[in-house]
Amino acid sequence: MIFHSTKNKDHRVSFKEAIFKSLPPDNGLYFPEFIPELPEEIIADLGGHSEIEIAFAIAKPFIEGQIPESELFEILEDTLTFSFPLTDVEDHIKTLELFHGPTWAFKDVGARFLSRCMGYFTRESGEESVILVATSGDTGSAVAAGFYDVPGVEVKILYPKNKVSEIQQKQLTSWGKNINAFEVNGTFDDCQKIVKSAFLDKDLNEALNLSSANSINIARLLPQSFYYFFAIRQLESKEKIVFSVPSGNFGNLTAGVLAQKLGLPIDHFIAATNVNRVVPDYLETGKYVPQPAVQTYANAMDVGDPSNFVRLLELFHHSHPEMAYDIKGFHMNDDMILETIRVCYEKNGYLLDPHGAIAYEALKKNLKPGEQGIFMETAHPVKFLNVVDIAIDEELDFKEKTKELLQKGSYYHSIEKDFAGFKEMMLAGKY
Ligand SMILES: *Cc1c(COP(=O)(O)O)cnc(C)c1O
Repeated sequence: MIFHSTKNKDHRVSFKEAIFKSLPPDNGLYFPEFIPELPEEIIADLGGHSEIEIAFAIAKPFIEGQIPESELFEILEDTLTFSFPLTDVEDHIKTLELFHGPTWAFKDVGARFLSRCMGYFTRESGEESVILVATSGDTGSAVAAGFYDVPGVEVKILYPKNKVSEIQQKQLTSWGKNINAFEVNGTFDDCQKIVKSAFLDKDLNEALNLSSANSINIARLLPQSFYYFFAIRQLESKEKIVFSVPSGNFGNLTAGVLAQKLGLPIDHFIAATNVNRVVPDYLETGKYVPQPAVQTYANAMDVGDPSNFVRLLELFHHSHPEMAYDIKGFHMNDDMILETIRVCYEKNGYLLDPHGAIAYEALKKNLKPGEQGIFMETAHPVKFLNVVDIAIDEELDFKEKTKELLQKGSYYHSIEKDFAGFKEMMLAGKY
């Protein structure tokens, strides 16, 4: 499969180039030349196939000719080492729990797949590379866990001092080996500025073979379509299926639409956002108006100009009516997030995280008779205890879950928010 830039169909690259470059030079996004159809015998009998077999059938046409089939199969086995349980919450509402991976959020799936693909190519070529990531929390930890001990790949993670939770900090800094964490005396934007400057810096690029692992990387997007299949595989009901997806950069939802185009019978989606409602507004009005991001309790979705929106447009042939037919918008504010977590816990005994809470409420408000709703639980609530604790009156105890992690050491370098200093350190090869 060839991938092209969404801005220029003549800019064509291989899967390998698309994942190492992450972004085309024209600032478009890489997009597959065509969307294959999954064999009917698999779609018709998901229950008769294992998760790995399904994932393999999905990934194969995209990666054919680039990674041998036996290697691809191993990469998938090594990516999908945890479960994706479809759990009952209430009548007609189930949740697909995506937080059973190493860093307790769904980003583990994409990060593990990307890292193992890069690991394969690095082994083949003998060329080492350095991954640079700026993170406000979840992305960096998933990337760290994903790339840990992958030979030939060094990871440098920049996170803002005092702006990530204790658990996130541990998940960023407790690795060692090929993972280096940098605590930046500044904000997430400062971290991002350093990373952006690094990618534009000729000396650093020549010295280090820099790559990125950010969420627009095609190898993070593709495997996210797997879990929509895994959800339906566990479903017995033959009702119309509605997926409600908590969305920020819209990678997760884009992968869902990809699953639908591959042939999975999904009736429609709900794009569930916090007050950063650019896409729900677009769905209603047909006008896409990026906004500065607003900080919310569901902070992994504080995005004012979602990076995958362009890919959604491609999937729907740039037709607003076509997209609005398959995706309904929903948004809610912080007060409603707290209220939803509280009510769902009281009524169902199910503890939501702030992101999943929005997607759950979106189903409550929109589900029609004859529809089966599935919302994505994108993180374990323990990752957002600061919010969940406000919503729930009783004392929540996650000591068992977090004990092992909190006992681990932290390894990081404290740096100032200046690119020149960072560059000097990198060129000196100190870390
Ligand atoms: C990243 C993230 C999201 C948003 O996913 P997108 O693919 O960017 O839309 C939602 N919930 C959690 C917990 C996340 O970490």
